[in-house]
Amino acid sequence: MLPQIKERTAGLHQYGTAGGLAVYERLGNLPLKNWQQGSWPQAEAISGVRMAETILTDTYACGGCPIGCGRVVEVGEGPYAGVRGAGPEYETCAAMGSLCLIDDLSAIAKLNELCNRYGLDTISAGGVIAFAMEARERGLLDEGPIWGDAQGAIELLHKIARREGELSWLLGEGVRRAAEKLGGRALDFAMHVKGLELPMHDPRAYFSVAVGYATSNRGACHLQAFSHLFERVLTMPELGYPEVLPRDQAEGKGEMVAKLQNLMALFDSLKLCKFVLFGGVTLAPILTWFNCVTGWDLDQGQFLRIGERIFNLKRLFNVRLGVSRKDDWLPLRLLVHRRGEGGAPDALPPLGPMLADYYAYRGWDEEGIPTPEKLAELGLTDL
Ligand code: SF4
Repeated sequence: MLPQIKERTAGLHQYGTAGGLAVYERLGNLPLKNWQQGSWPQAEAISGVRMAETILTDTYACGGCPIGCGRVVEVGEGPYAGVRGAGPEYETCAAMGSLCLIDDLSAIAKLNELCNRYGLDTISAGGVIAFAMEARERGLLDEGPIWGDAQGAIELLHKIARREGELSWLLGEGVRRAAEKLGGRALDFAMHVKGLELPMHDPRAYFSVAVGYATSNRGACHLQAFSHLFERVLTMPELGYPEVLPRDQAEGKGEMVAKLQNLMALFDSLKLCKFVLFGGVTLAPILTWFNCVTGWDLDQGQFLRIGERIFNLKRLFNVRLGVSRKDDWLPLRLLVHRRGEGGAPDALPPLGPMLADYYAYRGWDEEGIPTPEKLAELGLTDL
């Protein structure tokens, strides 16, 4: 199977996860200007393809990985000369780039390097910088970077990491708390779910992402379901998805997200990289590997039940902290704002019905609380 994985993921190795960034822009999936805009001609300039033509010097792989999507970059000239090491992946190129309308790949590499050195998550940091840019534009802040201001973004990142100045204390706690402190209209463009800034995939382009972000246990996360890829290129016959699903169709997406969250909980627990899915790996070989390594003899239903139990266990933890349907929601911008241009100009995901389907499939009540029957089924009655 290794030759097959290598062959099918050759593009991922050559261009990294940002290789498809310009395609995502054309599909309306790439977040632009804090999720306001529908198209952006500069997308090519921050893509993995452009990276390969300019600052890429090498690639690297996690231990034992046949794919090797990691980037090694070096900026040799210009204001960001000296950047050298791990390069930005798709999420970083989008969060530090298109989300803030920064079209300078070297600046993005610099922002990426700073986040690595400071120990900051690049998605959250990019989300905070974009929030600050919009707040400045709307007159809610009188300092900080404006759209496209790479140098201003770098200065802000330094200040946030070092907690220098009043602005850093406002923004350093993330967009939810910053918006709560600013109040008023700031709450309208605070792009987070359960306090976690949004990853770089737009629910208006892939409807399943709406349910995935809303119900992800740690707040908005594209990896807990990984569902947008099953609306684009991936299939999973073992889960009932032999074909790619239409991306702007709501029907069946609640169930699909729940099934994929259960599967991805297994991936996370087994420390499996989800990118092997691009190599044509499906559930059946993973189960075979699992049984070989453990000496167990689980069937597919038993295997997936473990994933379901993991996901429900996390949900129970959150329920104990007060989480319910009221928290399984998206920023209003993603539900009501039609971008009017690009690859998904008019699409708006109908989250309410999809969420109802999701709860029903999960065996949760209308408030999103796992029912006693479901907990008994999963052996979690003590919790
Ligand atoms: S394990 Fe995954 S993230 Fe790491 S290099 Fe391989 S494909 Fe990339």
